[in-house]
Amino acid sequence: MSRAFRRRSDFLPFARPDLDGRELDMVKEVLDSGWITTGAVTKRLERDFADRIGAGYAVAVNSATAALHLALEAVGLKAGDEVITTPYTFASTAEVVRYFDAKPRFVDIDQDTLNIDPEKIEAAITPRTRAIIPVHIGGHPADLDPIDELARSSGLAVIEDAAHALPAVYRGTIIGQRRPALGSNPHLVCFSFYATKTMTTGEGGMICTDDKSLAERCRLMSLHGISANAWNRYAAEGSWYYEIVAPGFKYNLTDIAAAIGLAQLQRLDEMSTRRAQIACRYTDAFHGVGALKLPADHAWVEHAWHLYPLRLELGALTIDRADFVRELKSRNIGTSVHFIPLHLHPYYRQKYGFSPDDFPVANREFEREVSLPIYSRMSDDDVSDVIEAVLHVVRTFES
Ligand SMILES: *Cc1c(COP(=O)(O)O)cnc(C)c1O
Repeated sequence: MSRAFRRRSDFLPFARPDLDGRELDMVKEVLDSGWITTGAVTKRLERDFADRIGAGYAVAVNSATAALHLALEAVGLKAGDEVITTPYTFASTAEVVRYFDAKPRFVDIDQDTLNIDPEKIEAAITPRTRAIIPVHIGGHPADLDPIDELARSSGLAVIEDAAHALPAVYRGTIIGQRRPALGSNPHLVCFSFYATKTMTTGEGGMICTDDKSLAERCRLMSLHGISANAWNRYAAEGSWYYEIVAPGFKYNLTDIAAAIGLAQLQRLDEMSTRRAQIACRYTDAFHGVGALKLPADHAWVEHAWHLYPLRLELGALTIDRADFVRELKSRNIGTSVHFIPLHLHPYYRQKYGFSPDDFPVANREFEREVSLPIYSRMSDDDVSDVIEAVLHVVRTFES
């Protein structure tokens, strides 16, 4: 059965933000208002975001990396402490641990979901462990119940890297909401509004928590450690007075960015429905193709579909992943790879003496992963083009 393959005429990028004009209107309002940095529009984004997620508090910052840094600061991470996380993630997740001269303790992943394997966490807990950072890779939530249980029994904070998980649901609870199994253990959830993420402000992020004091600490440290209380107390007398109560950071989100965020948040459901439709079409098309392993999509989650991480059955193909990426590119389809595990990078290799086999599942899955384009601006024809190109590469290089 050989249908003629038609290569698309223009290049389909791997990712593209979905901006429909409302963003521009709202940014213009901010520019016209004369107040362009953190102010009322950022406050409104925090309120609307907390409402959408069902979180007690939301603190807007200028990246998810900043959010993770502030979350670790808020739970009191110190030099020499350890934080358990996954090697199968972006740079941010572990570099923020290094900011404190603390140690990221990597735990290998679950082959199926690509998320941290909860069964391997307990063995990595030491007296110095302070926190666990699960990452919801691609938008498929990590298995949080056993993580919460371990955190509670060992007195650890849980800081979720939810850069991919807006909006996602784990066993009926929206990612960003409080989960009862955590008890009173510290819990913060960090979202990203980077350009490729499911909602964008160009650069930006949000910290959600139900703990008022953690939220207040994040807010304080996000803007130079300048006390808002002092500000409020003296506002009546004049706006010149402030108190520095800690050496904070410069991580605040601007009202210009927040305006983009408000427009995006209003369309979040529409955009995420479209992503889910695209995932559904891919899955229908690739189901039963022996050379392809489909992304996990368990009944106990609602997937955010930030990524569509396809995996190649390398034994069924005469080419490797790098060739597969090249073949798709030559058919005008952009793809990406998520992620080069952190333990393979020079910094972590040199610092901790890692070899690839230290986290064999992460290593093996990385070798055969290729992420297909999945974003709300893709047309039905774009999706068809990706499907046809993938199937054509598979047919051409089947062993
Ligand atoms: C994008 C990303 C981040 C960082 O987000 P920024 O907003 O760019 O700082 C963190 N973790 C993961 C898994 C990411 O993909």
